Amino acid sequence: CGIVGYIGNRDSVNVLIDGLEKLEYRGYDSAGIAILNDNNNIEMKKYKGRLAILKENIKEVNIKGNLGIGHTRWATHGEPSDRNSHPHLNPSKTISVVHNGIIENFNQLREELQGKGYEFLSETDTEVIPHLIDYYYNGNLLDAIKKAIERLEGAFAIVVMSKEEPEKLIAVRKDSPLIIGVGEGENFIASDIPAVINYTRKIYLLENEEMAVLEKDNISIMDFKGNVIEKEIYNVTWDI
Ligand code: GLU
Repeated sequence: CGIVGYIGNRDSVNVLIDGLEKLEYRGYDSAGIAILNDNNNIEMKKYKGRLAILKENIKEVNIKGNLGIGHTRWATHGEPSDRNSHPHLNPSKTISVVHNGIIENFNQLREELQGKGYEFLSETDTEVIPHLIDYYYNGNLLDAIKKAIERLEGAFAIVVMSKEEPEKLIAVRKDSPLIIGVGEGENFIASDIPAVINYTRKIYLLENEEMAVLEKDNISIMDFKGNVIEKEIYNVTWDI
């Protein structure tokens, strides 16, 4: 339902929680974040219920990192629960994914991946995504994601963070909105503009079947075949 991602020098937990709060108006049943911490491990917290519950639980641990993804979920496959909340990880916990939309062919993919020995911890359609990326990963995250999304049917906005390539976030849009907030020495990705407006008013609007690689100082946007796309910046003049 709501997606926020951050790469830069700020404490990403604050940016993600702030962004998710700005998306609360859309409604949701669970919320979660995954942060790449200073030891280059993915730390994840996710709970059924209001963002306030996530915030309470984060307060007790000290998660710090400059790279992270967050999600508010509106369940379509699998009941609202801590386990079904996003982000979702691959089995070796190196790849984390948040997803809006529905993967129509998840049952078939799930059986295929189970046949290859992949274990599933949730009942969501989403969990096939980190597992598929893991399956195709051969040292290049972007290539693995391209191969994985070729297998996905349905609507999806996805943001991926991997500890193997800790200097980037990769986002994919198909039939589910995503925008990029352009900063200086930092960049943002979100499902809607209000999530980033406190930090930047410069926006790239991702179109259907586009993907983006966000680094601290660079953004590249391409189609699913890898052809580079040049975009105009959209300047947000309104307030929330
Ligand atoms: N289909 C996914 C799920 O049920 C994502 C739902 C959403 O867009 O929040 O977990």
